[in-house]
Amino acid sequence: MSDLILQNVRKTFGSFVAVEGLDLQFGHGELTALLGPSGCGKTTLLRMIAGLEAPTKGRILFENEDITSKGAERRNFGMVFQSFALFPHMNVAENIAYSLTLKGVPRAEREARAKELLELVQLGHLGTRRIGELSGGQRQRVAIARALAQEPGVFLLDEPMSALDAQLRGDMQMELRMLQQKLGITTIVVTHDQREAMTMADKIVVMSSGRVEQIGTPQEIYHEPANAFVASFIGSANLLKGTFSDGAVKIGALRFEVPAEMRAAENAPVTLFCRPEKVRLGPESSGDNVIAADVKFVRDLGPVREIHLVTEHGPVAVEAGDMEGIPLKAGDRVNAHLPKAALRLLPGDAA
Ligand code: ATP
Repeated sequence: MSDLILQNVRKTFGSFVAVEGLDLQFGHGELTALLGPSGCGKTTLLRMIAGLEAPTKGRILFENEDITSKGAERRNFGMVFQSFALFPHMNVAENIAYSLTLKGVPRAEREARAKELLELVQLGHLGTRRIGELSGGQRQRVAIARALAQEPGVFLLDEPMSALDAQLRGDMQMELRMLQQKLGITTIVVTHDQREAMTMADKIVVMSSGRVEQIGTPQEIYHEPANAFVASFIGSANLLKGTFSDGAVKIGALRFEVPAEMRAAENAPVTLFCRPEKVRLGPESSGDNVIAADVKFVRDLGPVREIHLVTEHGPVAVEAGDMEGIPLKAGDRVNAHLPKAALRLLPGDAA
C-alpha cells in the first residue's frame, strides 16, 4: 500500500531541469532512501514532497488526496534538516513541544508528550538542558523528537547524519532505523552515502541528473545494478567493456562465460560487471573467465585486503578475506578469475 504517490513530478529552475518527470510510490511504513551524488536533485524532490517547493509539473498524492498545492504547514509532514535547525533560546523539552505549542495543545498534555518523546530518543534526563549544552548526537535526537511530536503522516530527513562524526553516524543510522520500524512511520531520507542508504532503507531510489537510475531493495541495487552508474555508485565495481558473442562476452582475445539468463544481441557492446569480493586470484593459467594482471597496490585493512590490479583491459579490484592470504605485493603477476555465476551484463559500453 502506498501512502504517498508522485505522478510525473518535474521541477525546473529557469531552463535548468533539477528533477525530470518522476513517478514514485512510497510504501506505507517503509523507509525509502533517495541516494545520489551532489546536485542530482534529491533535496529538491524532498522539498517538493514537504511542500517547501512547488513542482513545475505533476501531482503529489497523500492518502488519496491531491496535496500538490497544499502548503507545507498543512501537510503535517515532520522534517529533520542537515543543520537540525533547533531553537537555541529554548531548552530541549521546549524544542520538542514547539509544534504542539503552535497548535494550542494544553500545557500538561504538551509536557507529557515531550517527556514521552524524550524517553523514545533516549534523552529522558536532558529535558531542561539548553541546546548549546548538547553534543551533536544529542542535538540530532532532539531534532528527531521535535519532528515526531506532531505525529507526522510522513517523516522527511535531509542528510540527517552529515553533521555527525563517522562512529556516531553509524550508531545513529541503526538507532533511527529501529525507531522508524517501531513507529511504523513512512519515511524518506535524502543521502549521498551508500552505506547509510544500505543500513536504513527498505527501498533505495538511486538518482543522477534529476532522473531515477534504479529503484530496489539494498540487495537488488548492490547485486543487480541496472547500469554502470548504479554499479559504481553503490560500493566498488569492476566494469570491463566487451561485446556479446555466441552466448559469452568477448574482451579482446578473452572469453567470459556469463549466467544463461544474461543475454544481449550478437555483437552488441556490453559492460561486464563483477564485485571485487567475487574475484578470485590464482597463479597464471589460461581458459575462460580468466584475465592476466599485475598487482599495482595492496591495501591491508585488517579483516579484508583490497588488491588493485592492472590488466590489458583496464583496472580490476579484488577484495579478499584474510583467510585467502596468498602473499602478494606490488609487481606480482597473477590471474584474476571472474566466476561465471558472479558476472552480470550491463547495457552498452559505459564503463
Ligand atoms: P546536494 O547533495 O549537494 O544537496 P542534491 O542532490 O540534493 O544535492 P538539489 O539541492 O536538489 O541536489 O539541487 C539539484 C540541482 O538544482 C542543483 O544543480 C542545484 O544547483 C539546482 N537548484 C536547487 N535549488 C535551486 C534554486 N532555488 N534555483 C536554481 N537552481 C537550484
